[in-house]
Amino acid sequence: MPHVVVIGAGITGVTSAYELNKLGYEVTVIDRHLFPAMETSFANGGQLSACNAEVWNQKATVLKGIKWMSKKDAPLLLNPSFSAHKYRWLIEFLTHIKNYKANTIETVRLALLARQRLFEIAEKESISFDLEKRGILHMYHTKEDYEIAKKVNDVLVEGKLERNAITPDEMRAIEPTLTGDYFGGYYTAGDATGDIHKFSVGLAEKTQQNGVKYRFGLDVVDVKFTQDKAVVHCKNSSENVNPSSDGITEIIADLVLVCGGVGSYQLADMLGDSVNVYPVKGYSITVQLKDERSVKNAPWVSLLDESAKIVTSRLGADRLRIAGTAEFNGYNRDIRADRIQPLINWVNQNFDISTEHVVPWAGLRPMMPNMLPVVKQGKQPRVFYNTGHGHLGWTLSAATAVLISQEIAEKFPS
Ligand SMILES: Cc1cc2nc3c(=O)[nH]c(=O)nc-3n(C[C@H](O)[C@H](O)[C@H](O)COP(=O)(O)OP(=O)(O)OC[C@H]3O[C@@H](n4cnc5c(N)ncnc54)[C@H](O)[C@@H]3O)c2cc1C
Repeated sequence: MPHVVVIGAGITGVTSAYELNKLGYEVTVIDRHLFPAMETSFANGGQLSACNAEVWNQKATVLKGIKWMSKKDAPLLLNPSFSAHKYRWLIEFLTHIKNYKANTIETVRLALLARQRLFEIAEKESISFDLEKRGILHMYHTKEDYEIAKKVNDVLVEGKLERNAITPDEMRAIEPTLTGDYFGGYYTAGDATGDIHKFSVGLAEKTQQNGVKYRFGLDVVDVKFTQDKAVVHCKNSSENVNPSSDGITEIIADLVLVCGGVGSYQLADMLGDSVNVYPVKGYSITVQLKDERSVKNAPWVSLLDESAKIVTSRLGADRLRIAGTAEFNGYNRDIRADRIQPLINWVNQNFDISTEHVVPWAGLRPMMPNMLPVVKQGKQPRVFYNTGHGHLGWTLSAATAVLISQEIAEKFPS
């Protein structure tokens, strides 16, 4: 049976390993970290959000981005300093403005497929990850924002998403902890939230029980091809403290599947392909709800505040995740206090809960210029990609894992 090496144990790698294992492949997952889902799949916004399928390739987004460049706490920040990678990405992003509608509809299609598959997997494999099937509520503060939202909603509905306009009173009935003033909202009852890290770790454990091997603490540095094999060369990563395995480890496989998140850019380059993933940084805070008042006053229904571009997810009784911001500033992973503070302020402005105990985090979204994931065979026929899910990796991975496994099965039957 063909042996597939999956590079990356984030949500895309683990769901791919699951589907390939189900189809009968021998699977080895390699990651430089010591545990699954330690990079972008660690503490994201938590939303399984078909309702957030709108791609960003719009003139209005570009104009907003330019306007925000001088505002330190803006939801979108572009560091204008020169980098060939960043500017190539931005130019390609602009060329996809014409595909805005088609790409948004395609994203809805993938998100709906993924939603169904993820729920199926979670139930079948009994994975607990603080899943809340209470829908997602988009909140709009002004008439102007609401009218733009109506146009977006028409495209989402054309993609077969069930999403309804609701009044401020209906918003408060759906989520009684809301305290602010709103012009109106849109509610997507079928969307959900959950902890991506818990899910990935849980699914990795299940796949391991079913025979998938995990090789942690290894950095993939090269792949060589013989006539019928791929030889994956790895070095101990900086996290690997095992002195007995110094030097290069070789793992021989039939096929390689790249699920490397923001590292897919370098991996593709090494494999002779171009995958123009750019790291778009975002931040989250996890508010620890330690007192009765905070537990009671934190929302359970997931929210998206359109003007602040902030999302929330209730992760069990005692945690509220808040995420937002998009920064174009290279591979820098520093957690900046001035980017975390607006998230804390937003919580204090909108809810009567304590922000005394807050865990900050920053991650890099693996974003393609057209905002669609890359699910394809490489130039070298033994190489495949399932990567570039950008701001929607949690929402889309369960679908793209099925699609790439089916493509592998067509080309290299197990
Ligand atoms: C602030 C924030 C909020 C978000 N909110 C949401 C949300 O609400 N809903 C949603 O759907 N999505 C959200 N996302 C996006 C989502 O989290 C990502 O799209 C998703 O986690 C990406 O998963 P991945 O598997 O592609 O990458 P990762 O999780 O980063 O996994 C890639 C793995 O590959 C490994 N790797 C890379 N190169 C190598 C190499 N050479 N050798 C060995 N290992 C390697 C890395 O170590 C890493 O573990 C958010 C992202 C951010 C930053």
